[in-house]
Amino acid sequence: MAALEGLGFSVDWFDRASYRREDPAEVARLRARDDARALLIARDMPVLRVGETGVDALLPIGEIEALGGAQVEALLGLAPNGAPIFAALLADEAVEVRSDASDGFLDRRILVAPGREDLKLVDLRSIAVGDLVPRDQAAMLAAAKALMHWHAHRRFCSNCGALNEVAAAGWRRECKTCNTTHFPRTDPVVIMLAVDGDACLLGRQPRFPKGMYSALAGFVEPGETIEAAVRREIWEEAGVACRSVRYFASQPWPFPASLMIGCFAEADGRGLEVDRVELEDARWFSREETVALIERRHPARLTAPTQMAIAHHLLKRWAYEGVEFRE
Ligand SMILES: [Zn+2]
Repeated sequence: MAALEGLGFSVDWFDRASYRREDPAEVARLRARDDARALLIARDMPVLRVGETGVDALLPIGEIEALGGAQVEALLGLAPNGAPIFAALLADEAVEVRSDASDGFLDRRILVAPGREDLKLVDLRSIAVGDLVPRDQAAMLAAAKALMHWHAHRRFCSNCGALNEVAAAGWRRECKTCNTTHFPRTDPVVIMLAVDGDACLLGRQPRFPKGMYSALAGFVEPGETIEAAVRREIWEEAGVACRSVRYFASQPWPFPASLMIGCFAEADGRGLEVDRVELEDARWFSREETVALIERRHPARLTAPTQMAIAHHLLKRWAYEGVEFRE
């Protein structure tokens, strides 16, 4: 399937060079190259360089030392031009927290690198929504942020509690005390549009921006298929039973480490029993109304997520092209 125009974090941009991760000398050689670049993460937020020509997430590798060194580094891969790309988690002290007014939906912290007017810390959702950096850089940042979040929260072995060590060029942690290896995790989340003929089901969580409706979503549980998770979530949150489930597309979602698995589900009727703990509201939208949501001209000023989110593309595919289900 062709890439979805505008979908955030989804560019298949690079050679992950996983075959080089086990060779520390090779990793050091790549790091020493003049064209090596670094994506910096501090306190879970990307560091961008603001220059005369625009904003850049790929910084010279020497910035790691200039900003006090890294807690963890990882070889992310090789860019299409062959340049080695590293991710680095800076020490918390490298940045100052000027304010923290996060609302549970957006990361609104204001972080500053003291004495560095040329650097700006911007949360990744704002970077993607505002197209602040090229899409391939946003995709690299998604990988860097998810990986560094994992390192920041897995310093100790979950088996025995000892401090564990970074291995495989930043793609593994190893506990030398109990010989357990730990791998970065990705949490699968299903996000689905239930449809019934000329209507689709959307809901809103209390933490959403005012007036925004989106596709229902939920984590896949252990021992569950994607299809079963889709049916269960729609049943639990809206009381709607579904028949066929169809996979659409997926999206890395580094908040902090999910993979959104976009699906369509064929609803068995439009009766609703909304779980008011999970959702503030859920309702059926006609195709005409859905088009108005997508095009930002809904008469009641309701909105849907922007094109950086897969929910937007689920809505667009169904509203403009329709979806067929096969038994
Ligand atoms: Zn251990």
